[in-house]
Amino acid sequence: MRRRAFLGMAAVGGASLAVSPISCAGPPSSDWAALAHDLSGSLVRPGEASYTVSHRLFDPRFDGIRPAGIAYCRTPHDVATCLEFVRKFRLPVAARSGGHSYAGWSSTNGLIVDVSRMAGVRVSGGTATVGAGTQLIDLYNGLAAHGRAVPGGSCPGVGIAGLALGGGVGVIARAYGLTCDNLQSVQIVTANGSVLTCDAKEHPDLFWACRGGGGGNFGVVASFTFSTVPAPSPVVFFLSWPWSRAAGVVAAWQSWAPYAPDALWSNLHLIATPGGSVPTVQVGGCYLGSIDGAANLIDQLYAKVGSHATGYFLNQFSYLDAMLLEAGCASVDVQACHLPWQVAGGRLNRQPQYAKSDFFTRPLSSAGIGTLLRGIENLRGVPGAAGGVGGIAFDALGGAVNRIEPGATAFVHRNALFLAQYTTDWTNGGSAAGVARQHAWLRSFWSSMRPYASGQAYQNYIDPDLATWRRSYYGANYQRLAKIKAAYDPNRLFTFPQAI
Ligand SMILES: Cc1cc2nc3c(=O)[nH]c(=O)nc-3n(C[C@H](O)[C@H](O)[C@H](O)COP(=O)(O)OP(=O)(O)OC[C@H]3O[C@@H](n4cnc5c(N)ncnc54)[C@H](O)[C@@H]3O)c2cc1C
Repeated sequence: MRRRAFLGMAAVGGASLAVSPISCAGPPSSDWAALAHDLSGSLVRPGEASYTVSHRLFDPRFDGIRPAGIAYCRTPHDVATCLEFVRKFRLPVAARSGGHSYAGWSSTNGLIVDVSRMAGVRVSGGTATVGAGTQLIDLYNGLAAHGRAVPGGSCPGVGIAGLALGGGVGVIARAYGLTCDNLQSVQIVTANGSVLTCDAKEHPDLFWACRGGGGGNFGVVASFTFSTVPAPSPVVFFLSWPWSRAAGVVAAWQSWAPYAPDALWSNLHLIATPGGSVPTVQVGGCYLGSIDGAANLIDQLYAKVGSHATGYFLNQFSYLDAMLLEAGCASVDVQACHLPWQVAGGRLNRQPQYAKSDFFTRPLSSAGIGTLLRGIENLRGVPGAAGGVGGIAFDALGGAVNRIEPGATAFVHRNALFLAQYTTDWTNGGSAAGVARQHAWLRSFWSSMRPYASGQAYQNYIDPDLATWRRSYYGANYQRLAKIKAAYDPNRLFTFPQAI
């Protein structure tokens, strides 16, 4: 199970950190009215009742950002109309799909071009055309009806646009690659309002950039066409050991998970409660095969650890049910696996959190494992914390992800053994001082791991702190991305602090 389940997705609401409202004189109201008239979708402006929820992203930390307008586009033409409007009035613009940007960069004090009304899955033969506003749980649900799957992440409300444009790591990645690896073509509205279909033959550079170059950089994607794979029936498992075994479990997992058959994907979670009880160590995974096959592989892990897990769960599911489980929605249906104001009957809550990431290309030495465990234990010792949980989640890589050349797509990270995400979240009502202390812990934990990490970071775990972001997210692909940016968005209509 991934972070949502392991780290406790039940936290409700959360402390809203102040982000100062920025006033925006902007265009006169008659021009806003004209924009609303020209859209086949709708426009929400400050003062309207639905603005209270329309301006929100997934993380309540960004509730203080006050967009001058939110355009719910229904067509690529709507998107082009919005881009003409922001060009004319020199307004900042941000595309928004699932709203899960870790830095809040799908919001703006100008115009949000929201693509959530361009959602849906159309399957034809071995391909699926997916509206850019489709949330992951709806993607899995739409494909399940046809017995097909596209590799993707586990958070149900993540938008396909942000996910695919920055890579897309999920439970069948070792077998079938990243979400962006399965992309065949993209329909995108560029800064000058052109609606382009790009693929390996048409606008191949732009297509290359859309496979890992990161959301919000090159235009507003309206739809993606993916190749699909037959939906597997994964065996899902969760294993846990007492914390006293943590060093052995880490050493065993890192010599097992990245080298396992492609059909096995797994992760390792080390979790602590700020100011709380003894941390936990857990391994979760998905195996595309039989229950016996999964049990055999788990036995190999046990042999390396030198002990069986003390907590154990293993069962086979349909792909959709496995994804509901990974999403923390095991006990609810697809409808309920949404935010309540997005879908009637939605029961998910928002979760404030900070996150950082690292790709590891070498196994951790015993000194590295010691530093790792001390980092987790230090979270327990944070005084006056704001609640929640924190820790680190390692996702095994290798397999199909690493069989693609680093320059073949814009996603450069093709030699890592595993990807780590460091997180801390907190509970509703947690003090701002407590949140700041947990944030300081996160930074210091990440700093302590510098000697062991590769220096590469995941562009989808976008990190406003990361001074080396060009090299860390894009490595040797950055120069090509910068040329493509200059060709398709010469005036930098699409910009944010870590924009190419
Ligand atoms: C709780 C949580 C769980 C996650 N789990 C996973 C996971 O399992 N695997 C994984 O790989 N990642 C995961 N992520 C990271 C996720 O992939 C990124 O945060 C991603 O950018 C979110 O996409 P979005 O569309 O929801 O976000 P948004 O905030 O809407 O967009 C993210 C970026 O893409 C841009 N963008 C949005 N729509 C478009 C568009 N139509 N055209 C062009 N640019 C656009 C935005 O402007 C912004 O810069 C997770 C994130 C969170 C918060």
